[in-house]
Amino acid sequence: MLAKPIQNLISAFTRLPGVGPKTAERFVIFLLKSGRGEVTRLEKSLEELLQTIKSCEICHNFSDNSPCEICTSSLRDKTIVCVVAEPQDVMAIEKTKSFSGVYHVLRGLIDPLEDGVPGYIKINELLARTDEKNPIKISEIIFALDPTIEGETTVQYISKKIATDRPHVSLSRLATGIPSGGSVEYADEVTLASAIKTRQKI
Ligand SMILES: [Zn+2]
Repeated sequence: MLAKPIQNLISAFTRLPGVGPKTAERFVIFLLKSGRGEVTRLEKSLEELLQTIKSCEICHNFSDNSPCEICTSSLRDKTIVCVVAEPQDVMAIEKTKSFSGVYHVLRGLIDPLEDGVPGYIKINELLARTDEKNPIKISEIIFALDPTIEGETTVQYISKKIATDRPHVSLSRLATGIPSGGSVEYADEVTLASAIKTRQKI
């Protein structure tokens, strides 16, 4: 029987994506063995993360400023918006250095098996950005969502709304190259760069 504080920390770690009970156990034993130094470092980093990182009010990516560096950069074309599911997809596309527009992070995808669209998915925020009354006139939306059922359902849902209410916005998606069922986050840089360049109109 493990001591309660050990059990608590193991269960806290297993809430993280990709961490199973065995890995969580190893983390806890590592921290116990390395003592105060390592724990303090972790504590400080977590506190700093909470204190400084914000959600950008325009693109909903994580950043130390809101609006973020990308949204405020004079070098970025603000009329082209690349729609991604998660902040790590922005990182993957930025690494390719082949996109000079701006982003919109949905923070999730629509699950076709569930009823309705969850409120945490930033679709209304995207529609608000494409409103013709905005000073920044968005001319193109590029969907860079994973080629999965969830990704496809989300593309269809948003495309329909934009095509009906905002016919001035052209819609495109990453060209094939990312295997069906694969992910934007783990696509290699060359594949991803060429998928952006040869994007296809919807
Ligand atoms: Zn931003």
